[in-house]
Amino acid sequence: MSRRRQIYEGKAKILYEGPEPGTLIQYFKDDATAFNAQKKGTIQGKGVINNRISEYVFTRLNHIGVPNHFIRRLNMREQLVRQVEIIPIEVVVRNVAAGSISKRLGIPEGEMLPHTLIEYYYKDDALGDPMVAEEHIACFGWANHDEMQDIAAMAIRVNDFMAGMFAAINIRLVDFKLEFGRIWDGDYSRVILADEISPDGCRLWDMVTGEKLDKDRFRRDLGGEEEAYQEVARRLGLLQDDGGPSEVLDLSKHRKLRGK
Ligand code: C5P
Repeated sequence: MSRRRQIYEGKAKILYEGPEPGTLIQYFKDDATAFNAQKKGTIQGKGVINNRISEYVFTRLNHIGVPNHFIRRLNMREQLVRQVEIIPIEVVVRNVAAGSISKRLGIPEGEMLPHTLIEYYYKDDALGDPMVAEEHIACFGWANHDEMQDIAAMAIRVNDFMAGMFAAINIRLVDFKLEFGRIWDGDYSRVILADEISPDGCRLWDMVTGEKLDKDRFRRDLGGEEEAYQEVARRLGLLQDDGGPSEVLDLSKHRKLRGK
């Protein structure tokens, strides 16, 4: 058997050519980086958990009509996704002040924002992903006006959905990052949600204790990152209560056992 072709290796994921044209296999690594890869490490079992959490969130978003690249999970660390032309913009949605907005504007961490904010960052490691305005995005042609309308509308829908989903399990959705891509149908293209949604790209705080259940544990050397990621998966019902990452519940097996 020939070795499959690697298309791209990022900080936390590898993309391989998929089994059919227009598909890719997204492999989730345990590697963690922060501060534009100046800090590097691993979070044991992170790839397995993020694969599962991202599958869950993207599947539910699909059910409410947010188009996305997820097709199906293949195994513990891999999922089949649609190949997209990535739009080089990181879309950050914020409900509560934390991280870079607190630093940049001096807003205390934890302060509720008067309303949800959407920010855009240009995806360029060499430049450190600088924040940009919609004017820059239009001026340099990274996305057109209609695409930006769709992106902002989807970002708000994702935020509303996820804020509710996490609130139901006593987690405050502070902020998160999304990425979008284009898919082509002849001369026409449309924008869909891509990449992943996991504690790597979200700030998730326990509603009662305020404890951080996301990558800030790694960024800020708080320790307990494996446990935090597992806790999110467990509350979402994706882990057996005593389960380590190797025991991530396989839904298809579970359904077969129940005869469904
Ligand atoms: O660092 P900052 O406060 O701007 O991050 C906002 C949100 O976007 C956080 O949830 C963070 O995890 C996410 N993010 C990300 N990848 C980046 C930058 C931010 O996932 N390159």
